Amino acid sequence: MATSLPRHGLPTMGTKQSFRTLLEKTDVFAIVAELVTSRGLITERNGRKVLEVGRALSTDPRLHAVSITDNPGGHAMLSADTMGVDLISRGQEVIIHLSCKDWNRNALESRCWKLASEGFQNVLTLSGDYPVTGFQGQAAPVFDIDSVGLLELLSQTNGADFFLGAVVSNFKRLEREVMPQYFKLAKKLRSGARFIINQIGYDSRKQDELLKYMELHGMRVPVLANVYVLGLPAARFFHAGRIPGVTVTDELLAVVEKQTTSPDRGRAFFLELAAKQCAIAKGLGFRGIYLGGHLRLDDYDRILRTVDSFGDEDWIGFARDIRFSQPGEFYYFEQDSNTGLSSMEISSDYLRTNANPPATDLQYKASRLVHKQFFEEKSRGFRVGQALYQIVERSPRLSHALHRAEHTLKALALDCRDCGDCSLPEIAYLCPESQCAKNQRNGPCGGTRQGFCEVGDKECIWCRAYDRLKSYGEAEHMLEGPVVFRDGALRGTSAWANTFLGRDHRSRKSSSS
Ligand code: SF4
Ligand code: SF4
Repeated sequence: MATSLPRHGLPTMGTKQSFRTLLEKTDVFAIVAELVTSRGLITERNGRKVLEVGRALSTDPRLHAVSITDNPGGHAMLSADTMGVDLISRGQEVIIHLSCKDWNRNALESRCWKLASEGFQNVLTLSGDYPVTGFQGQAAPVFDIDSVGLLELLSQTNGADFFLGAVVSNFKRLEREVMPQYFKLAKKLRSGARFIINQIGYDSRKQDELLKYMELHGMRVPVLANVYVLGLPAARFFHAGRIPGVTVTDELLAVVEKQTTSPDRGRAFFLELAAKQCAIAKGLGFRGIYLGGHLRLDDYDRILRTVDSFGDEDWIGFARDIRFSQPGEFYYFEQDSNTGLSSMEISSDYLRTNANPPATDLQYKASRLVHKQFFEEKSRGFRVGQALYQIVERSPRLSHALHRAEHTLKALALDCRDCGDCSLPEIAYLCPESQCAKNQRNGPCGGTRQGFCEVGDKECIWCRAYDRLKSYGEAEHMLEGPVVFRDGALRGTSAWANTFLGRDHRSRKSSSS
């Protein structure tokens, strides 16, 4: 019988097994609770409420770790560190979220030392949601590096030995969204991620597919299934696309709306739905669950007790029921006709379009040609460019004139913003400075909506890049290159000169490898 949560009184001190050991050295099904800090001091009413829940969870042996968010949804909230330090001192395992939206690489490195010094061991790396509000106006987004760059930075920071986690946003509708997310997941693992948490979603087939895709591609790390307890406000919020990457379909919203007409406003139903999702996660082979939502303390207990009450095979029926897919949704694998979940047979549509890809646009064709002739290191044009720029650099006036000509041409053709450290070849000749709200250079963020950017009304550049690369049979290799770090010192200088003379990120990478 599971132990119930204490509801009153001071929490007792105790030390939980390290989260790393739990996931890497045991087969215990991990249970992690997500806490969202409040806006304001921890001593104020809302701050105290969250802290009390966190402290109480620390005393529950069934909860293996508490995960604390970092300004979710792009809003300023109390720093996760404040509550994290308190919980660590009580023997709680804490996963601290670290996102790139509000911090540049130096601030992140500094924070990394701070977290390690304070005893944090588990860090969940994110690019972060685009800031939407701020004091006296909207905050300026930073995105100096992204989640992949952050993983690399944290893996290489002196003195820190974090157990690093990353997120995969797998509940996407279109092939051009789903596949780049899988490729980015692989890149995150290569960059140091040791555990994965997926995005919120309500489609068991996609859940199953994620594990099967990882198995097929040799990605052997523990994955926690995100179980977010719905209520009417959250369901409406998600349905309206207000949280990037999270989808509640019309069908699911209708279920939620119907349930909220019951006397308890659907509370029992939503908690049971979450319990069923936990059972599905366990049945599918996830290494644990990541429990989120606006939960009262006794809700955790109720969910976990309900999970305990299920029979071993009950999850199979639950998985059939909880399959809220989007219209025309893409799946990498064919459906298993017996279970309604994922088979291991790759989608015939996917294979067919790989074999007969659609034609691409003229601009892309031209860009490839120019790159091949002049910017591929082994090309004759590249050697000519190197020789030319060595001469040009001796004359500031000539350098300036050539830089102006380059920028004018690239601004007209590609909307270049003169960052000086060009990523066009890595993103199928689409400029991340002008066309990606978060300047993502190592793959898409998780925020695409039906192929469009989470900010504004443009198509996501990584979806466009996927289409372009697919037309040449290269989409599956789109994120196989080294991690890109844009060098801010090159802004306003000639990207061509920097390429030919070995100053940009590609040259830095090849010289260090
Ligand atoms: S140099 Fe920078 S701003 Fe210009 S096209 Fe390349 S990535 Fe974009
Ligand atoms: S363009 Fe794509 S990767 Fe960039 S911010 Fe928008 S959704 Fe994210």
